Amino acid sequence: MGEDLEKLKQCLPLLDYLRRQNWAARPVGRGGEFVGLCPLHSETRPSFYVNAQKNLFYCHGCGQGGDLIRFVELSQHLSFHQSLAYLERQSVPPADPAAVLERAAAFYQQQLDDYPEARRYLQQRGLRDPALIQELRIGYAPGGSLRRYLTAQGYSCDLLQHFGLVDRQGCDAFYRRIVFPCHQNGRVVNLYGRSIVTSAPPHRFLPGSKGGLYAWQQVRQSPEVILVEGLFDYAVLWQAGFHHVTCALGLRLNACQLQQLCDGPRTVYLTFDVDANSSGQQAAQELAHRLRAQGIAARRVLLPQGHDPNSFFVQGGDAGQFQSLLEAAQP
Ligand SMILES: [Zn+2]
Repeated sequence: MGEDLEKLKQCLPLLDYLRRQNWAARPVGRGGEFVGLCPLHSETRPSFYVNAQKNLFYCHGCGQGGDLIRFVELSQHLSFHQSLAYLERQSVPPADPAAVLERAAAFYQQQLDDYPEARRYLQQRGLRDPALIQELRIGYAPGGSLRRYLTAQGYSCDLLQHFGLVDRQGCDAFYRRIVFPCHQNGRVVNLYGRSIVTSAPPHRFLPGSKGGLYAWQQVRQSPEVILVEGLFDYAVLWQAGFHHVTCALGLRLNACQLQQLCDGPRTVYLTFDVDANSSGQQAAQELAHRLRAQGIAARRVLLPQGHDPNSFFVQGGDAGQFQSLLEAAQP
């Protein structure tokens, strides 16, 4: 019980809670103290103090004081147990998800240079161009530091859990992963994390939409578009000079992505994995049918057996060879 109580209070700091109730306050001194009008009694001169570090309040007007639970008891006229239930039911506030994800992406981007393991992994996957790494805003999640960073910025733990950045145990969701932010209309809508260790599932997204096709704005005017499955495929192709490339972030296209591909006449080069279980090629074939039904020219690019675009370039394939594969693509 005591532990749960502490966790609840830690996840929903008193100051956050009061601000959600539109409590207007100004800081006093440097000790993390705030003062404003008392929500518990009527007054014209502020006498309600909150100490954000201690997570406690005290009102010099009505003499009430205590922690978050005590505040809920007094303000909602509830018993201790009712107050707890009330707080647990509190839904996550309507924060702007893009702003939170943007902060997380920026944080991960800052970490990249500090972790040689991350740099080494990018090298192994053939990503060498620092300008491209910068352009795609590739970052690294070492694990165990995002929550601390974002809660210090004023985001509550339950909010971070709501967006999937932090798991139910309060730990960072991304641990030892290379991170690519996914944008839509200039806003970050999701993060993709590629594990650099083999003991974890390789691919992870945050819960919620992945958005549309990756970097679609940059290619939508192009009469020919190369479509790949993964962001490492995307990155090596871009690096090799194929800038009319976009990525589906997986094998199955969502409705938004399909609509994007079909929003005008173009040729789509489907460049999916050629793997042993042939799931990549099956998906490509199905997609080609669907695109053709919408009047879009679809061609399947056949990489050598066992390859995806990333491994093709990593294992010595060059732009000229890939260009030949494009030209030989099956109509
Ligand atoms: Zn008061």
